[in-house]
Amino acid sequence: MADAPTPVQADSPEARRYNRIRRWLGIADLVLAFVFLLVLLITGWSGWLRDRAYRMGLGNYSLSLFMYLLLLVAISKGLSISLDYYGFRLERYYKLSTQRFRSWAWDEVKSFLVSLALGSIVVELLYFTIRQWPQNWWVLAWLLFMALFIVMAQLAPVLMFPIFYKFEPLENEDLRRRLVMLSQRAGTRVRGVYRWRLSEKSKKANAALTGLGATRRIILSDTLLDNYTPDEIEAVLAHELGHHVHRHILKSILVQAAITLLGFWAANWALHYSIDRHLFDFAGLHDFANLPLLALVSVVLSFLLMPALNAYSRFNERQADRYAFESIATIDPFISSMNKLAEQNLAERSPSKWVEWFFHSHPSISRRLAAAEEWHRLQSAHPQI
Ligand SMILES: [Zn+2]
Repeated sequence: MADAPTPVQADSPEARRYNRIRRWLGIADLVLAFVFLLVLLITGWSGWLRDRAYRMGLGNYSLSLFMYLLLLVAISKGLSISLDYYGFRLERYYKLSTQRFRSWAWDEVKSFLVSLALGSIVVELLYFTIRQWPQNWWVLAWLLFMALFIVMAQLAPVLMFPIFYKFEPLENEDLRRRLVMLSQRAGTRVRGVYRWRLSEKSKKANAALTGLGATRRIILSDTLLDNYTPDEIEAVLAHELGHHVHRHILKSILVQAAITLLGFWAANWALHYSIDRHLFDFAGLHDFANLPLLALVSVVLSFLLMPALNAYSRFNERQADRYAFESIATIDPFISSMNKLAEQNLAERSPSKWVEWFFHSHPSISRRLAAAEEWHRLQSAHPQI
């Protein structure tokens, strides 16, 4: 490997344009949710929907709450479907997706049903605690939510992901042997490596560490496994193993717990504030017409915290990268895998500073390559014997 830093490849106008449109799509989605929730509250339509839901739910509280959620989720899907469709067309246009319209539409149906199912568990639990413990509901709801969150993190790889993609244990003996050696050096053990059949829907490559406890596993997309050299795949594996060694999933859950507690506190405050001042005509805490207000608090909070959470995620990614540099024989396959990934996924190698700061959960490719070269430079200057 040459010691002079490799010049950073400039981004193609195509990559810049694709990423700009995707960012705007994300922003449009958020703004749409924000406006929708605000309109529901200000116009009193939320109360009107609640009355409908009571009629559909035959006056039964839990059933009516479910009906209300169903109406809410159906209307919001109706509003956002055009953005989703545009996103699907965008991936096709840039030849990043191999998915046909029927398969996309079926995924939309499935994700609607999954969010309805998860959403109803969440709101039933939420209003159960509100009705049972109106004083301290937000602390109890927080505890219940975190328990649910941990269960979901555990079940997601075996219950949720297979709804959309197929997974099979990695059969490649050479790669498995490499992983075992990597893990042994780390003094740890990953429970499994899975081949993720992403190619049915996308041309992009991806890899991740997912799950918790017995379901913790590394997943590698077939689009990566079939196009990268064993050394490059090992570099990607080493990065994922870095997340495992540094306990990033557990740490992220703790960060999430703190944010969720803040969110519940803020939601409780917003509810009391609006009820005391008769802002939206809620009949009380238990009146589920106030659900859009709770959702609004969470939308605003996640928007405000996005830069901080992304900064935290980038910190973790840098840690995992550093772990990879230390575990593989040379950094060359890391660098070539990064370049391949950037090309294959049409990623921006050097986004503007503020775009990276606000939107990116990973450091830009150019920064990751620079870090790898810096590490290599220091290693060559002070070789460890
Ligand atoms: Zn990572």
